[in-house]
Amino acid sequence: MEASAPREINYLRLSVTDRCQLRCFYCTYWQDWQKLPTGEILSYEELLRLAGIAAGLGIRKVRVTGGEPLVRRGVVGFLQSLHRVPGIEEVCLTTNGVRLADLAPALYDTGLRHLNLSLDTLRRERYREITGQDQLEQVMAGLERAVTLGLGPVKINCVVMAGINEDELVDLALLARDHPYQVRFIELMPTVSPRQWQQNFLPMAEVRRRLAVLGPMVAAERRTTDGPAQIYRLPGFQGELGFITPISAHHCRTCNRLRLTAAGALRPCLFGDAEIDLKTPLRQGASDSWLASLFAGAISQKSARFSLPPASFPLHGSSMVSIGG
Ligand code: SF4
Repeated sequence: MEASAPREINYLRLSVTDRCQLRCFYCTYWQDWQKLPTGEILSYEELLRLAGIAAGLGIRKVRVTGGEPLVRRGVVGFLQSLHRVPGIEEVCLTTNGVRLADLAPALYDTGLRHLNLSLDTLRRERYREITGQDQLEQVMAGLERAVTLGLGPVKINCVVMAGINEDELVDLALLARDHPYQVRFIELMPTVSPRQWQQNFLPMAEVRRRLAVLGPMVAAERRTTDGPAQIYRLPGFQGELGFITPISAHHCRTCNRLRLTAAGALRPCLFGDAEIDLKTPLRQGASDSWLASLFAGAISQKSARFSLPPASFPLHGSSMVSIGG
């Protein structure tokens, strides 16, 4: 196998909470889920200190996730401070959009521009079936307000599910024709039950085959801090389409990220079970250089290629709501 250029680990996904007001069925085993005690969640000061240490090791981009980050009190102030961490060049937010209409002006004032919105359907009843909440109108109002205010380029993350939203692929893709959005289709990950996953998994090759009716797709240029999405432009589209294939075509060779869970565990790989506890040493007075060595350890643990054993459900015991996707 040809030696690939060493990966540049320059992207940190930082979960600020394991709370969320939605209950997406594919996110977590909700019947077993227990929220973290508040004291077990890293404080904003701790998160900012770790972000600064990570920047010292080459992290340039930080994505704030959850659970749902906008449910945590003080998150706007945290985002403001994160923009001021030396070395961090790009701050991004992934949200389910339920609180976006209210918070968009304040988010804009923090300097935030990079916004990812999770949206799996444009149908109200189906939204309620997937998330357990009747919030689609609220989310679409938030999207509109965010764009009007200048937040963006907005990326829309859509988890593709056979038998659930596969009949909306073209409608969702056309959002990128009519708006300067990047609509990204994501393969369903094995986070709940094997049976459910096998029932609802739709390979991206099939998604692309169905979207071929929209016209020829031209690959867009990649930036070093880009995530795993393969991005395409289409004639007549204001925006772009993206495809994220964690299952059918892994992207380990270009994987540039680490994840920090709300509980303070550093994960070199979403699919791996390695977690490095940063919270305990942090709260026991560890120095920045000691914490930096733990980050460096995580980077060195990033395997060249994850291997997903067939029946590894759920994802190694950690729930998506606390990892932050
Ligand atoms: S964390 Fe995301 S995927 Fe999970 S329930 Fe909330 S909105 Fe849905």
